[in-house]
Amino acid sequence: MATLQITDLHVGVETEEGTKEILKGVTLTIESGQTHAIMGPNGSGKSTLAYSIAGHPKYTVTSGSVTLDGEDVLAMSVDERARAGLFLAMQYPVEVPGVTVSNFLRTAKTAVSGEAPKLRTWVKDVRTSMDQLRMDSAFADRNVNEGFSGGEKKRHEILQMELLQPKIAVLDETDSGLDVDALRVVSEGVNRVRESDDTGVLLITHYTRILRYIRPDHVHVFVDGRIAEEGGPELADRLEAEGYDRYITAGA
Ligand code: ADP
Ligand code: MG
Ligand code: MG
Repeated sequence: MATLQITDLHVGVETEEGTKEILKGVTLTIESGQTHAIMGPNGSGKSTLAYSIAGHPKYTVTSGSVTLDGEDVLAMSVDERARAGLFLAMQYPVEVPGVTVSNFLRTAKTAVSGEAPKLRTWVKDVRTSMDQLRMDSAFADRNVNEGFSGGEKKRHEILQMELLQPKIAVLDETDSGLDVDALRVVSEGVNRVRESDDTGVLLITHYTRILRYIRPDHVHVFVDGRIAEEGGPELADRLEAEGYDRYITAGA
C-alpha cells in the first residue's frame, strides 16, 4: 500500500510584484485504492496543488512537506517523482514532435519501471486498454498530442495512467470539455485503475458532473488556497445541488 502525505503545504508563485502566496497550508493524505476529489471555485488553488506535486518550476514551496511512503517528494526531480510512482496527468501537455503514442507509452513505461516491458504482453496490454477506452488502434501511430481533440487528449492521459500503474495519480480537470460519452469512458478508466487497489486517485475538478460516474471516498473543498470543508461522497452531492456560493460569501 502507498501513501501520499501532504502536510501544511504553503506554495507561492512568482509574479512581477513578488511572491504571491496561493496555497496557505494544505494537509491531505491519500492511500492507494482510495479516490479523493478536490473541488472548488476557479482560482482557489487546485491546479497549484497539482503543479506543486508535479514539481513545476514556476511554483515555490515555502513550507510544509509532501512525502510518498515517507520519501521526500519535494526533493525529487520530475523524473524521480514519476519513477517513485506518481502520475500527473498534466505532465506532458505539449506536442511531442515525431514521437508516436505507441513509442511514447513504451518509453514512459520503461523509464518508470526501470526496464523495457516484454513486447508480447505490452502489445496486448496496450490493445486492451485502448479497446476499453474505445480508442481506434490507428491512434497508437499518431504523434503525441499532435492535432488531438480535447477528448483524445483526455483518453490518452487515462491510457497512460492505466499502463503506467502509478501508486498515486493526480488528474487535474480531466473532465473539462468532455461530452457525456467521453466523460463516461474516461470515468470507467479511472474506476478500473481504482478497483485494482494499487493506485490512489486525486481527482481535481471544478465540476460536480464527473462525480456521477466516479464516486469519491473523500471530498475536499478548496477555497482561497485552503481546504474549507471535507466529507464523504454526500458532500459532492451537496455541491452539485448548491454550488460554491456559500463558501465564497463566507470567505468574503
Ligand atoms: P484553480 O486551479 O483552482 O482554478 P489555480 O491554482 O490555477 O486555481 O490558481 C490559484 C490562484 O493563483 C489564482 O488566483 C491565480 O490567478 C493565481 N495564479 C496561478 N498561477 C499564477 C501565475 N503564474 N501568476 C500569477 N498568479 C497565478
Ligand atoms: Mg500554515
Ligand atoms: Mg485549475
